[in-house]
Amino acid sequence: MSATTGRLVILGAAESGVGAAILGKSRGWEVFVSDGGKIKPAFREALVQHDIAFEEGGHTMERVLAANCIVKSPGIPEKVMVMKEVRKAGIEVCSEIEFGYRYKGDSKIIAITGSNGKSTTTMLTYTLLKDAGYDVALTGNIGYSFARQIAEKPCQWYVIEVSSFQLDDIHTFRPDVAILLNITPDHLDRYDYKFENYITSKFRITENQTPNDYLIINRDDKVINNYLTNHSIHATTIFFTMSDQINGNDGGFINDGHMHIRHDSDYFDMSIHDLTLKGKHNQYNSMAAGISARIAGIRKEKIRETFTRFKGLAHRLEYVATVRGVDFINDSKATNVNSVWFALESMDKPTILILGGQDKGNDYTEIIELVREKVKAIICLGVDNTPIHEAFRNAVETIIDTTSAQEAVHAAYAAADNGDVVLLAPGCASFDRFNNFEDRGEQFKEAVKSL
Ligand code: ADP
Repeated sequence: MSATTGRLVILGAAESGVGAAILGKSRGWEVFVSDGGKIKPAFREALVQHDIAFEEGGHTMERVLAANCIVKSPGIPEKVMVMKEVRKAGIEVCSEIEFGYRYKGDSKIIAITGSNGKSTTTMLTYTLLKDAGYDVALTGNIGYSFARQIAEKPCQWYVIEVSSFQLDDIHTFRPDVAILLNITPDHLDRYDYKFENYITSKFRITENQTPNDYLIINRDDKVINNYLTNHSIHATTIFFTMSDQINGNDGGFINDGHMHIRHDSDYFDMSIHDLTLKGKHNQYNSMAAGISARIAGIRKEKIRETFTRFKGLAHRLEYVATVRGVDFINDSKATNVNSVWFALESMDKPTILILGGQDKGNDYTEIIELVREKVKAIICLGVDNTPIHEAFRNAVETIIDTTSAQEAVHAAYAAADNGDVVLLAPGCASFDRFNNFEDRGEQFKEAVKSL
């Protein structure tokens, strides 16, 4: 039985931890927030403002272990001492979306997960609902945390970007509509380097769903298909695919340069050239978002309108500038190998690829063919670039190490000819040299602008 009131301890005081704290406090919990590091000023201010007790720079175990329920922030791995103690003590642990879910009332949830495309699809789905006049909030990794939104501005609909870490500690979380975009190896350092563990975690998005709920899922993803042959799903499953093999079922597919969406025997289609989001990966994202919008009851004309004017997010295949015939594209959010694959796939000019950063256990074999075909030079941007040199030694003649975004941009520009493109698609996390992927993208853009 989960506790519904008493002592709530929140581990980690960033967006989701502070959100859970504010929600917990407003629902009568005695809240204590404990952060092993330093709390950012904006979050500290929010805690003070809501009169919530907190500590930073370490955990007072006595207080932590006195909890009736613990909300663990997604950034905290299981291997840290505090989590080991908490597990040993058998205290209930939930993620912030699980905690928020308990207070969602009769609102509806569209939850989006996958290895790549979450933010884009979440923003697109949110925009579809918003443009149609729905009372909707954008939550999760973009926007406010789900819990904070519920505490401060509850809505009828929530579109939530959900990471695997958030799914690791759910118990009852049951979205009305779940989208699973794709599964490729990522964050393996958090899953004992076992891909199966990460796959299981992603599929938890549907574990509490019933036939009244929908799971919208990628038919072309081998990992997903493989899982489906060995596990049963309780939700009503709807596929999207690049082939036209949905056999008259509800779903999405691409045929003859058109995106088709079928829901409740009703068809909707539009030319892929009218979609503002470009690239094959974005056709997947658009189909998934479009199906969820139809399930939510949005009219076809409205959906078409949003699709034709939706602007993508910064740092995702973002065009920066053309300098003396060389295009510069910022895909700083490409933090794993699969997103680099899609970025390269959509390049139609000889490419100088800026790659590298904090490696999460990357296997580069997946992109070696595309690199051979399209990449003239690789500019490495990580602290340790050994895996890149090893993987591409025989595929690319020029591989250059650099130590900053500015140096990387200069080296890439020097290696480029008129008509080439310089693509920042690091395939790695940014934390070895930058604060986050936004910082990396911004520094890249600055460097390009000062060329
Ligand atoms: P996430 O939130 O899952 O990280 P984003 O929408 O921020 O996803 O995109 C992350 C990276 O993946 C970007 O480089 C983007 O160009 C690429 N991408 C977006 N959608 C997909 C997709 N469906 N499949 C593969 N890569 C994608």
